[in-house]
Amino acid sequence: MDMDDLAARILAGERRALSRAITLVESGRADHRRQAMALLEALRGHDRTALRIGLSGTPGVGKSTFIEAFGLMLTGQGLRVAVLAVDPSSARSGGSILGDKTRMERLSRDPHAFIRPSPAQSQLGGVARRTREAADLCEAAGFDVILIETVGVGQSETMVAEMSDLFILLLAPAGGDELQGVKRGIMESADLILVNKADGDLKPAATRTCADYAGALRLLRRRAQDPQGFPKAMTVSALEQAGLQTAWAEMQALTDWRRAEGHFAARRAAQARHWFEAELREGLLARLRREPVKSALVDLAARVEAGDLSPALAAEDLLRRHLGE
Ligand code: GDP
Repeated sequence: MDMDDLAARILAGERRALSRAITLVESGRADHRRQAMALLEALRGHDRTALRIGLSGTPGVGKSTFIEAFGLMLTGQGLRVAVLAVDPSSARSGGSILGDKTRMERLSRDPHAFIRPSPAQSQLGGVARRTREAADLCEAAGFDVILIETVGVGQSETMVAEMSDLFILLLAPAGGDELQGVKRGIMESADLILVNKADGDLKPAATRTCADYAGALRLLRRRAQDPQGFPKAMTVSALEQAGLQTAWAEMQALTDWRRAEGHFAARRAAQARHWFEAELREGLLARLRREPVKSALVDLAARVEAGDLSPALAAEDLLRRHLGE
């Protein structure tokens, strides 16, 4: 497979080329990995920028209903929309949040939309790389908006926030007056909290929940990269397609502001650095798990356990001998 040719076809917007390229970045095979890196290099330098929107919410809050309605609204405005998913549970269950063909049925038939299910992969590091690179590929292919969905299990939310230009938290109306166990870190990285299902009998509860979150958000320190009023909480109904246009207007307003202030590019730069360091950490750990370092490590660990060597000296010795300092 010629990577320059594949790159040209992706840039020309060929969907099959895009699918094939994503399969390549998902592969764990060493030769595929080399090809994937060559492909991503061949694509570097195009001047397309998609808006990457991370979307998190626990199962049942209405993510697929929201993405379908929101996605169709955007394609209706002539925008091209890609949907990627991160589901850390898919490796265990064998399925994935987007594996079910009935999800987003209308959006998946839309010629302006591209939906890619979560791959069954166990390591979050691998999922992060795959999703990040798939987003790069979709951006090169000319998509205007890339939605990155996650169920928010474990570290997946933080990971998606680290590869998105905007991060959105989708919540359901709460029964009581408690905030739904949303982790503080996630509240802090959310740009917009959308309380879904603000319709019918659930509307009063949704309005109350939204007010609670708006209050909680006001207590957070305002971030330098945000204009007045952000982060915001709003109600929507994915089912009745209510509030989606307003939510999109808020996303655009925030994005325009960040672009004008230089925060958009700065955030992407900080993310690139973050992923560089993450790759470096993973690469180092992978080398430690390979021979001949692995045997040396087992050896040293035994001596540390036996009390023959201090942990610090043993680590120092291994690093010096095998990593050249
Ligand atoms: P996901 O697991 O987060 O992807 O949630 P789904 O989109 O599959 O929705 C879970 C359930 O909530 C389904 O029965 C939907 O019909 C329902 N639902 C989703 N959005 C809304 C909404 O805006 N209002 C109401 N009343 N129900 C909704």
